Order: sequence, then structure tokens, then C-alpha cells
Amino acid sequence: MISERAKKVKPSPTLAVDSKAKEMKAKGLDVVNFGVGEPDFDTPEHIKEAAIKAIKDGFTKYTPVGGIDELKEAIIEKLEKENGLKYKKENILVSCGAKHSLYNIAQALFGPGDEVIIPAPYWVSYPDQVLLNDAIPVIVDTYEENDFMLSPEALKEKITPRTKAIIINSPSNPTGFIYDEKTLREIAEIAIKNNFYIISDEIYEKLIYDNNKHISIASFSEEIKERTIVVNGLSKSHAMTGWRIGYAAGPVEVIKAMTNIQSQSTSNPTSIAQKAAVAALKGPQECVEIMRKEFDRRRTYLIAELNKIPEISCKMPKGAFYAFPNVNKIITKKAGSYELNSSMDLSIYLLEKAQVALVPGSAFGAEGYIRISYATSIENLNKGIERIKKALEEIA
Ligand SMILES: *Cc1c(COP(=O)(O)O)cnc(C)c1O
Repeated sequence: MISERAKKVKPSPTLAVDSKAKEMKAKGLDVVNFGVGEPDFDTPEHIKEAAIKAIKDGFTKYTPVGGIDELKEAIIEKLEKENGLKYKKENILVSCGAKHSLYNIAQALFGPGDEVIIPAPYWVSYPDQVLLNDAIPVIVDTYEENDFMLSPEALKEKITPRTKAIIINSPSNPTGFIYDEKTLREIAEIAIKNNFYIISDEIYEKLIYDNNKHISIASFSEEIKERTIVVNGLSKSHAMTGWRIGYAAGPVEVIKAMTNIQSQSTSNPTSIAQKAAVAALKGPQECVEIMRKEFDRRRTYLIAELNKIPEISCKMPKGAFYAFPNVNKIITKKAGSYELNSSMDLSIYLLEKAQVALVPGSAFGAEGYIRISYATSIENLNKGIERIKKALEEIA
């Protein structure tokens, strides 16, 4: 028999669209994929070279569970220089991707009855990781009018004696918005006053546009740093999704518990990928800026095109590589034999009718929106937009 815990984890609602898109592609149909959650760029050459060197040097054995010293030192240097955060090696754990870091945190901190506050729209794995550890995800809605930032008032309403943590993600997947300093400070104050942890997923830190700035909530004071676990990684910043390197920085006792858990599950992240990660962190950073600029160009183009469609409105995102347009005007409408009563209905309609794959907002706990990834070329964006426009002309 399957465990009760395993039964609680729902299959991702994105899978319906995704498997359908794959099925259509397999049939030879030309599907435009706006569903992707990873950079379309290749991993920069000097990073690949470092991995090749590691292989040739025979750096292919187990490493310490929490990562090699060289990598931990590179992470410590990065956190101090870029985020104003001072850590020692015992505050750092390198894992098999930031998702694994988050999972280790959930295992180390959450138990039966614990409540974990998650602002919606959220990244799909947060609620399920909480559920997998027998804890309770407490979802708090955020709103487009407020750039999808959690309001301190809404947060306060959800706090109970069982509140264990909050998960903040800025820049955000799926909305592309970032938290301002004032709101972060207010959330930090509330966490201190009510004695809960802050889990800060900063994986899109390097993808921020215009004059916006990334601020790590842990940097406000020693007091807030002591209750924050910062999560970051190389997947999005250095186009390294397949290498599986992420890391967490936090209080010694939390990192120690996470390391023990990792020692009994995956052991160390891949030795070769760790060497590549050192090269990514310590090598030239122009590659990051080149990718950021290209994402920025696509963002500007995509949002302008989306807003030309009468039924759609889209606020300019400030980070990551997603647009999160409002499609409420379409919901409850009909298009031929299709009834568009939800963002999922709309996604299926666009896939079948326009051969454009994207993710419904409901997958992220936000009905009335869709997520469009611009981790794809301008030509592809243009092709997809033209198809969407045409399909929406059928709406009555
Ligand atoms: C991509 C992503 C991650 C995980 O990335 P890894 O590849 O596991 O390092 C974590 N959080 C968010 C919000 C993401 O979009």
C-alpha cells in the first residue's frame, strides 16, 4: 500500500497541458512552447571546461556531503559581496539543485500540525513539499494591484501558534514581480515578533530589470538573519538547470539537520557539477549579463504585444523570465465548442486551437491568469503571440 503521505501529493496540474503538448509534438505538430521553466541558453563555455577538467583530473569520487570547501568558500564570498551576508562554512549546505535545498529545509523544520505560510501565486513545489512532511500549507492570496506582494495585514491574519515558517520568492516564479524593501522589512518584523522562520528563495536574483534591485531579507539585521534560510543556485543565473547545484545558507543548527538528512538520502551533489559551480561563481560574470539583457529585450517585446490583445492585460514584470497576464475577461466566455470557464480551459483551448503551450494560473494558486515563459527566442514569441491573437478572435 502507498503511504498516506505519498497520497497527499497531487500530480501537478501543469501536467495535463504538458503531456498533451508532448503528445501533439510527437505527432509532428508544430507546438510553440511557452511553458518552459528554464533558460534556453547553453551553459557558458568556461563552466563546461571546468567540468571537463574535473573529469580528466579524476575528480569523480564522493565529496563531503555538504559540498567541497572550495565551493562553500565561493558561495560565502558571493553572499558577502553581493548580499551583505556574512556566513561561515557551517552555515552552508550545497544540494542537488535549489529544489533539493528547499526539500531538505522542509524535512528539517516541518512536522505534523506545523503551518507554513505560502503567498499565492506560488511556485508549484512549495505546497507539496510542505504536505510531504505532514505539515499544513497556509495559502495567502496576493494581488496584481499590489505587484503580487504579500500585504503585512494579510500575513498577520494567518498567523497562529502553529505557524512555523513563511516561504518568500523574490523575484517570483510565476509572476515576475519582486518585493520592495519596505514590505520585506515589515515581513521580517512580523517573523521576529511571532517567532517563525523565513525561507527566502532567491533563485532569480540575477534576473532583474530596469532600476530594480534585489534585497535579501536576511540582510536587515543579525536577528532576522538568525531565523532566515536563504536559498539560491546556479540553474537560472548561469543556465545550469541540468547540473543540479543549489545551496542554502542559514543558522548552524538548521544547516546541520539538513546536512544529516542529505547524508542519508543523496549524499553529496555531483563532484563534477560542484567544480563547474566554482567556475560559475568565481569566473567571469559577463555571460550572466548577456543573458539578462536578452531576457530584458524579450520581456519588453512580449509585454507590449500582449497588451495589444484586447482581452488580455499584462503588467510589466520586474524580474525572472515570466509574464503573468490577467485573462479574467476571457473566463466564462465561449469559443466555438469550447467553454472557457477557467485558466485551465483557456490553456487547453490555446493548445488545441493555436498550438501554443502555456501554464494556467490555477497551477500556481491564481485563477484568472496564465504564465508565459519568455525563455525562448523573439521569433518564437512572435509566432506564439500571432497564434494566440487569432485564436482569441473566435471568442464570443
Ligand atoms: C527553478 C526554480 C527552483 C529550483 O531550481 P533548481 O534547478 O532546483 O536549482 C526553485 N525555485 C523556483 C521559484 C524556481 O523557479
